[in-house]
Order: sequence, then structure tokens, then C-alpha cells
Amino acid sequence: MLNDPRSHGLWEKTAPQPPATSALEGATEADVVIVGGGYTGLSSGLHLAEAGSRVVLLEAKEIGFGGAGRNVGLINAGMWVMPDDLPGVLGPVYGERLLDLLGNAPQLVMALIEKHGIACELEKQGTLHCAVGPDGLKEVEERYKQWSARGAPVALLNADQTAKRIGTNAYAGSLLDMRAGTLQPLAYARGLADAAQKAGVVLHTASPVIATDRQGSRWVVKTARGQVSADWIIVATDAYSTGPWEQVRSEQVFLPYFNFATVPLGHNLRRSILPNREGVWDTKEILSSFRMDQAGRLVFGSVGALRNTGLSVHKGWAKRSLKRLFPEIGDIEFECEWYGQIGMTDNALPRFHKFAPNVIGFSGYNGRGIAPGTVFGRTLAEHILGRMAEADLPLPLTDPREPSFRALKELWYEAGAQVAHFADARF
Ligand SMILES: Cc1cc2nc3c(=O)[nH]c(=O)nc-3n(C[C@H](O)[C@H](O)[C@H](O)COP(=O)(O)OP(=O)(O)OC[C@H]3O[C@@H](n4cnc5c(N)ncnc54)[C@H](O)[C@@H]3O)c2cc1C
Repeated sequence: MLNDPRSHGLWEKTAPQPPATSALEGATEADVVIVGGGYTGLSSGLHLAEAGSRVVLLEAKEIGFGGAGRNVGLINAGMWVMPDDLPGVLGPVYGERLLDLLGNAPQLVMALIEKHGIACELEKQGTLHCAVGPDGLKEVEERYKQWSARGAPVALLNADQTAKRIGTNAYAGSLLDMRAGTLQPLAYARGLADAAQKAGVVLHTASPVIATDRQGSRWVVKTARGQVSADWIIVATDAYSTGPWEQVRSEQVFLPYFNFATVPLGHNLRRSILPNREGVWDTKEILSSFRMDQAGRLVFGSVGALRNTGLSVHKGWAKRSLKRLFPEIGDIEFECEWYGQIGMTDNALPRFHKFAPNVIGFSGYNGRGIAPGTVFGRTLAEHILGRMAEADLPLPLTDPREPSFRALKELWYEAGAQVAHFADARF
């Protein structure tokens, strides 16, 4: 995207074209201005427009430029925090509400894809959270216990069952979550944009918001060459936030995450590696993830940035790791490589902020934004439409707060991942 082959990689290569858009020029009016063209902004726009609101969406670059166009494509249910711990962190009311909403969030993604006929390589085969060693097994067993007690369709697979599904005996077991799945993330974002536009949302790309102004009871949202006056502003800029809501970015610690996509695997390899096309990630602290795309490319990722020495270190590690997991794969070529920045919050949970009267947003998805972004986007729409009171939102209202030692932590994540990947499988 924007002539950078390492920003959106495979997803840009295989996604359908985005709907036609233009930059904002001159002055216009709306009921709601949405800032940011990722899942949160597009879902809120779609739901607002379907309910009859006049919506203008302003995206700084292109639809899906942020995390929405760069991610792994795992449609996860829930967050990283253990289900039983959530009520302890957020209190019983918000904890249970969030668990319920996010546990069912993949259903909304899948329903929207079906309703709007979005071509985004949706696979509804679930995900496998794979246990590395005895500690990893304990973790997935505990997750299984907690989710199954809540009636979630999860299953605990032993090492043999896991090996059959993945095609490697590297794991001690896994948690199969049938609520989850995979998709082509940029295609999903572009499909949501298309649906939103058809529902009446006016989409402007190449339109970074640089300032806002309160005029009476209305907001005026300004770009370099235009402005929109509206009653409400939705801030859906998340980790890629620039302009007036820089604090949304600085509240999060960047965790770089890369992906390599192999050339399409041959028929025999596809029969042994992920034949059912589940999405996979493991329990390691520096985790790895992999999934298949529709054409049979294996998309393999982990923590790290593909820049400077990181490019060769992580590429070498990815090749060694793939060979270790799937020896039959041999010296396979990578067709695409890309990376992005995952925004992590200090309690690994997203945030609800009210920046000023009628200026609201969710952010901080900690690498789990496909389903949560989609469902929170709908929630913002419901709130603005008067169908959900502030007290009924899934998260308590908080002020943005920069975590301590943010810059140091970011440096450590990037450098630490290089050290770990350089050493892994060598020593
Ligand atoms: C490498 C990577 C892997 C990930 N893997 C997964 C995964 O497998 N599963 C999962 O669920 N989640 C994953 N995530 C997280 C997920 O991609 C994000 O949580 C999700 O994209 C958040 O959606 P959003 O719409 O809130 O923000 P984004 O998708 O980041 O969109 C925000 C948009 O706001 C725009 N913007 C910023 N400032 C302005 C401004 N001033 N004016 C106008 N526009 C502005 C940006 O250009 C951007 O397009 C991953 C993220 C990354 C980076």
C-alpha cells in the first residue's frame, strides 16, 4: 500500500479492489463523522447508515491502512486475559458483559460477511491455540476449563489429535475454538467499506484529520482541504492514530509483528498441513502464528519488525522454524513479507474514551481487533442512536494514560525479538 510492499504484503496482492473514494474537499455536513477506516470505523459507519444516520468517514491514507490491512486474519473469540480473570480486572458487571460480547463477536463478523456478500476468504473451521511444553498445556487446559464452563464450543485436543489437524507433532495439545476462524483481513475491511458506502456512508481517503473545533453544539472536523460539521465524532484511529488523538497511540505500547507468506503449497502438502484450515498460534511468550490462505499459501508470523537487521534475522528464523515444524516442506520460497504494529495496553484490555462531549471511541485491541473492532463499532453506533446508554457500554469510561517506559518497552520488543529469533534453533 502506498508503494510499500512490506506494509500489507499478501493481503494487498490478493484483496479485491476497494470502493472508489476521493479526498475531502470543501465543507460538508453530517450527523456523525468517523475518523479512521479500519474495522471499528467501518462497522460503526455501516450500522449508523443502516439506521438512517448521515455519516462521513475520513481515513488518513487508504481503507485498511492500519492494523486492519496487515494482521494475521485470526477471528478470535475473547481477549488474551483468562475468562475468569476478567471480572476481577473490570469488576463483575463489565467483566461478564465484555466476556459475553467478545465471546460472540466472531458471529457478528461472519454474519456481516454473509449479509453483504463480502469476498474475504472466510474459513469457519475454528482456531487452535497450541501448547508448547507442559506449561503451555497447563495454560490451554485452564482456558478450556474456563470457556467450557461458560458453555463455549471449545474442545481440548491431545498431542495426537493436534498433530493430525496441523501436520506436525511439535505441540503437547491444543484448544480448538469453534467460534473462531480466519479471513483475508484487507479484503474484509474493503468489503465492509463497500457495504458502508452502499448503505450511504460517504468515504473520504487521503484525508487525515488535523484539527477539530467546537461551534455551538456541533463539531467541525478539519482536514487540509476540507471540513465536516457534525453532532458526533467517532475516533476509530487505534494504534495508527495521528493528528488530534495522538494520545490513543501513545496509550499503547507497539509490539511489532511480521508475516511471511510462502508460495502456494503443492497438493500433497496441503493434505497434510492444516487440511481443515484452522488458524493457529502457540503459547510461547514470543509467539508464532500460522494459517493458510485460499490459494494454499502458508502465512507464518511472529513478533518482530522487518526492517534493518530484523529483516534477515526474522526471515532466517521463519525458514528454519517452518522446516522444523514441517520438514517435508523443504526450502520453500516466500512470496510476500510484511509487518505492522500491534498496540498493547497495560492490562491487555481495550479502552473506551470520551475525549470531549460527543467525541467517543474504542481502542487498544492488543492484537485482537477483527471481531472486537467490528462489535465495538456496532456498539458505538447503538450508543449514538440512543439505543444503548453509556452505563450499558461494554467497557467503563477511562482517560487515556501513557504507560511507563513506553519507548523503552518498544525498543525491547523489537530488539528482544531479534535476539530470540537469532538464537532460536541455532543454540
Ligand atoms: C501485524 C498485526 C497482526 C494482527 N493480528 C490480528 C489477528 O490475527 N486477529 C485480530 O483480531 N487482530 C489482529 N491484529 C489487530 C487488529 O488488526 C487491530 O486491532 C484492528 O485493525 C483495529 O481496528 P481499528 O479499526 O480500530 O484500527 P485500524 O485498523 O488500525 O484503523 C485505524 C485507521 O485510522 C486511520 N487514522 C489514524 N489517524 C487518523 C487521522 N488523524 N485522520 C484520519 N484517519 C486516521 C489510520 O490510517 C487507520 O487506517 C493484528 C494487528 C497487527 C498490526
